[in-house]
Amino acid sequence: MISTGFEYSRATSLDDALAKLRATNGEGKFIAGGHSLVPLMKLRLSEPKTLIDIARIPGLSGINKHGDNIQIGAGTVHHEVATSALLRQACPMLAEAAASIGDPQVRNRGTLGGSLAHADPSADYPASMLALDADIHLKGPKGSRVVKASEFFRGMFTVDLAADEILVGIEFSPVKSGAYAKLYQRASHFAIVGVAAALEVKGGKIQSARIGLTGASSHATRLTDVEKALAGKPLSKDSIEAAARTAGANLQDLNSDIHASEEYRRAMIPVFTGRALVAAMARA
Ligand SMILES: Cc1cc2nc3c(=O)[nH]c(=O)nc-3n(C[C@H](O)[C@H](O)[C@H](O)COP(=O)(O)OP(=O)(O)OC[C@H]3O[C@@H](n4cnc5c(N)ncnc54)[C@H](O)[C@@H]3O)c2cc1C
Repeated sequence: MISTGFEYSRATSLDDALAKLRATNGEGKFIAGGHSLVPLMKLRLSEPKTLIDIARIPGLSGINKHGDNIQIGAGTVHHEVATSALLRQACPMLAEAAASIGDPQVRNRGTLGGSLAHADPSADYPASMLALDADIHLKGPKGSRVVKASEFFRGMFTVDLAADEILVGIEFSPVKSGAYAKLYQRASHFAIVGVAAALEVKGGKIQSARIGLTGASSHATRLTDVEKALAGKPLSKDSIEAAARTAGANLQDLNSDIHASEEYRRAMIPVFTGRALVAAMARA
């Protein structure tokens, strides 16, 4: 199908983007990579009267150190995240998640900010955002604010981002001993079950673990039972297998669709939790 007609303008700065959006009186939308929005427009599930292109705003993309933290601009494309030498060395889990997204076309146009704002229940990044306990930076007419990833993902395609705000970027403390494992749809590579695991290890013991799950339910969520089961345990395959065995058992309302039934997803959560944890352990 062909989308309905729309006006197009290109923003030159964050303030310009926000002003242009405000001027549309709720009838406009930002477009970054267009890899989620354009398919929706072609299906006429979204019919914005104006598209404001934010893909070339100077400073909105890039991966940089900020003290001990890493900042990534919302406009950074998946390919840049996947191939970043800084991330591959300091936070391989995130580079790994980005490398698993879609295909080269998607990775070269799709952006981190677009993926987080769109919040597809099968998107890959949300699991890593939870495992990294990332801060999500937003800007709107009333100023800037920061939302924890754990508060950001609210429901299916629903996040804590107001219609008049722009997602500016993320900031997190990098985790070396982390990994991402996913069971993916063969055609699109979207996650049927995707697990990001980040371990804090000291003296052969797991001090703490953060585990994010995507693809399985309406929005990404932390596997807190597994995290609790791992805390204080020796870093070993036995501890991991014991903790991963019941992963997701308490989760209600798992997705069921043409790609996988609820039962299949439930069965795969422990498998991919175990795989992500074993890979994270190898990096500790
Ligand atoms: C064939 C195909 C395969 C894919 N496979 C995967 C996959 O395996 N894993 C995966 O995770 N994703 C996958 N995707 C989705 C892809 O990652 C998209 O790039 C991503 O979801 C959206 O990013 P975008 O930059 O293209 O956003 P756009 O499509 O431009 O925008 C999406 C939405 O976010 C809003 N938006 C964009 N940027 C901002 C911002 N900075 N602030 C506020 N709002 C903003 C837009 O207004 C729009 O509502 C796939 C897509 C396609 C087409």
